[in-house]
Amino acid sequence: MQFSIPFSGRAHLYTDEEIALVAATARESVPLTQGYYLNAFESAFKIYTGAKHAFAVSNATAALEMAAQLCLFQPGDEVIVPAHTFTASAYPFVKQGARIVWADFHPATRVITADTIAACLTARTKAIVVVHLYGYGADMPAIMALARQHGLLVIEDAAQALGVRIQEHHAGTFGDFGAFSFHSHKNLSTLGEGGMLTVQEDGIAALIPMLRHNGHCGFADQREDYWIPAMGNVDLPEWRGYSLMPNNVCLGEVECALGAKLLERADRINREKRERALAVIAALSDIPELTFHCVTNERHNYHLLVARIAHGWRDAFIRTMANQHRIQCIVQYCPLYRYPLYRKLGFGAATCPNTDDFFDNMVSFPFHHALLPQDLETIVSATRGTIETLRTQ
Ligand SMILES: *Cc1c(COP(=O)(O)O)cnc(C)c1O
Repeated sequence: MQFSIPFSGRAHLYTDEEIALVAATARESVPLTQGYYLNAFESAFKIYTGAKHAFAVSNATAALEMAAQLCLFQPGDEVIVPAHTFTASAYPFVKQGARIVWADFHPATRVITADTIAACLTARTKAIVVVHLYGYGADMPAIMALARQHGLLVIEDAAQALGVRIQEHHAGTFGDFGAFSFHSHKNLSTLGEGGMLTVQEDGIAALIPMLRHNGHCGFADQREDYWIPAMGNVDLPEWRGYSLMPNNVCLGEVECALGAKLLERADRINREKRERALAVIAALSDIPELTFHCVTNERHNYHLLVARIAHGWRDAFIRTMANQHRIQCIVQYCPLYRYPLYRKLGFGAATCPNTDDFFDNMVSFPFHHALLPQDLETIVSATRGTIETLRTQ
């Protein structure tokens, strides 16, 4: 189907200055990875977010994979994960041997809370994955207090939450680890792929460059002939008695140069998206069949604009928006326990009524940054018209 307003796979456009920077870096940068711009991007990211340590990686999944590795799971250890999220929030922990316990979310905010996490705690709980889904920051102070009380690791999946503030602090800087994404869909993208891993503990931070880049590190002992037996060591130091296998998940210099530059307008993109979301929500506020999550401050960056539709009208709504208005709405974040992958692994059971209800009744509107004001007006009037049609049926 040809849509006049597609659900775009690309979240934003680049300025001429950003394109020129990409071209210049591509032309001149030596080397094209692990160079000057890697440091520049990580430094800019630390300044922007206030994170103690930040490491650019190939994508947020790679960041979550390394965080999961560093949890040092033992057989039987459990990790609490929201069921309403993207699959990459969960499977890196399964790969490291953890058992998943699915947490439900709060229906008003669609993110997990200290209460919904507490309901999942057992004697085997080792870690909690908190996802700031749709760009809304979960209640990290309360979640961190609960985690510290029980001695649990906290991994923040901030893939959708760059620039989100929770009580003045950036989402992704509260937990032991934070994962950010610069994928094509996200509020800021480094040419389609990119990510950042934030780390709290100095000892862990010292391991990340080696864990990220094939284990490359120096030999502990002095060697007069530096090339014997090899120029460098590839064996990471042990961490808490465990040996870690390395990865190669580096981010190239062109992406890093662009990422550092894009951070300059992260707050502006988020503010514009929030203002547009609030305008759409206000324009539709007299329609009781639609429930949006309305947040007027930096706790929400409106990476996505989603609503619950009452009366089981969701599928008819999406069809009418597509067929009559050529607007492509989608359905997102199938509860992970419903997927064959997680069922096959033995994680098919969950008690998450809010997650089930929301997924079965939700709609995600096109909401990329490049939408024009008239596109947003079209979405509002088409939504109104579609709901009015459904009321008469
Ligand atoms: C996009 C996303 C990821 C994965 O990010 P990549 O950079 O594509 O690996 C993980 N978690 C959530 C919630 C996401 O939206």
